Amino acid sequence: MKKAAGLQPAFFRFERLPGGVLVTNDGGRWALLKAKEFAAFADGEVREGSALYRRLLPLNFFRERLDLPAEEAGIKGLSSGLFSGPSLHILVLTLRCNLACVYCRASCGTGAGTDMDWPTARRSVDLAFSSPAAGITIEFQGGEALLNWPVLKRSVDYALSKNKRAGKDLALTVVTNLVLMDSEKLDFLVARGVSVCTSLDGPADLHDANRRRLGGGSHALAEKWLKEIKRRARGGGKDSLPSALMTTTRLSLGREKEIVDEYRRLGLGGVFLRPLSPIGYAGSVWKDIGYPPSAFAAFYDRALGHIMKINLSGERFVERNAALLARKILSREDPNYLDLRSPCGAAAGQLAYNWDGQVYTCDEGRMVGARGDLLFRTGSCRDSSAADQAASPASRLCAMSSCLESQHHCFRCAYKPYCGVCPVHNYETQGSPWGNIAAGSWCAVQKGIFAAVFRRLSSPRERRVIESWIKGSAR
Ligand code: SF4
Ligand code: SF4
Ligand code: SF4
Repeated sequence: MKKAAGLQPAFFRFERLPGGVLVTNDGGRWALLKAKEFAAFADGEVREGSALYRRLLPLNFFRERLDLPAEEAGIKGLSSGLFSGPSLHILVLTLRCNLACVYCRASCGTGAGTDMDWPTARRSVDLAFSSPAAGITIEFQGGEALLNWPVLKRSVDYALSKNKRAGKDLALTVVTNLVLMDSEKLDFLVARGVSVCTSLDGPADLHDANRRRLGGGSHALAEKWLKEIKRRARGGGKDSLPSALMTTTRLSLGREKEIVDEYRRLGLGGVFLRPLSPIGYAGSVWKDIGYPPSAFAAFYDRALGHIMKINLSGERFVERNAALLARKILSREDPNYLDLRSPCGAAAGQLAYNWDGQVYTCDEGRMVGARGDLLFRTGSCRDSSAADQAASPASRLCAMSSCLESQHHCFRCAYKPYCGVCPVHNYETQGSPWGNIAAGSWCAVQKGIFAAVFRRLSSPRERRVIESWIKGSAR
């Protein structure tokens, strides 16, 4: 038997990519190796003093030279948000909505009687403040949150006054389609530092096809108010700037440049290219608006290529998926992105408070609950404490099924240090919170995004662009 003449590899995972073989370790260090380099490394033939040895040594890839404190620091950095308690608290102020988006309608009640009342909102805010997390975000959403404006206003003032005693790092956000925005409402939100988040799916024809309104589209109003919020927020700090999210439907495919350029035209500084999730109503109309994961991967890769060209020509424009991953991959930090954690952020990182006082692991779990399936319900804001929510069967189910150590495909995957799985997605698409990761669309989408990001990180020029996105980035 041939005896290896070099250093033995420490535990590693690998993935073959078009540009080489990606190797990663538990501490989140990585290298993209040529096929010959990979063979030498995996066979224990890297000699001390060689170029490959000098490259891989500081990355902690040799068993005989393992720097355990460095490995531990990487693991701790990547999972630092796991034990701080839920930081995101989503109050679903109403199920009513004034739009009929192609991917959402079933989740939005059209009748009266689904508004959160003030006592329920107050108890929800109380529960949010009982989280041990030092920083909490209370996010008001719906349906259309502005349809329950009186309770939104009261909840904002209640949270601000409660925080005078609590002293948390408090962020307040309203998620709105902006159709009902007016100067009076905006005055109130700006004066209290409530940030505004909306949806923008691209240029007017694409946005209006996805986000329909009786008697016309919603793009014109979104544009009008995004510009106005931006104008008023000038000088008000980053939390007052508007943010927008896009959802990729079948209609978006092939239009990635136009979508990116629409975000640039409106001065939004970046875009968060999000795949459509086959959860709730979107799952039931998937044959009309959905697409295979490979189509999203190609869309994302082309969009990221366009964004790289924009940045290389001197204009800063951020792709937020890539920036989030880069904080993990390059800085070994946890950016508190709750869907890509192990275990995921269900209940441990966020809670969703439905209009009727029922509390769920997350908004996606709440959407399952809208069908009458309470698998992801953690309790009620009326008669259970934050500790009860954390100890609920739903919380434990999500923690167990999204722990990548218990997902054998993930355990072997090179992206494991940076990735996460979604029990709700698995349940909705495969009938089990564990699912079959290798056969599911969640994994295929993540692999497409990771491959596109690592491709850019392997180019020194493009890596510098991505590094510039994460310099000085906050939570
Ligand atoms: S996605 Fe938002 S705006 Fe569209 S129908 Fe659903 S709640 Fe309303
Ligand atoms: S269950 Fe899914 S949607 Fe909910 S927090 Fe976990 S990853 Fe996110
Ligand atoms: S979900 Fe897929 S990409 Fe993510 S760790 Fe698991 S196997 Fe890897």
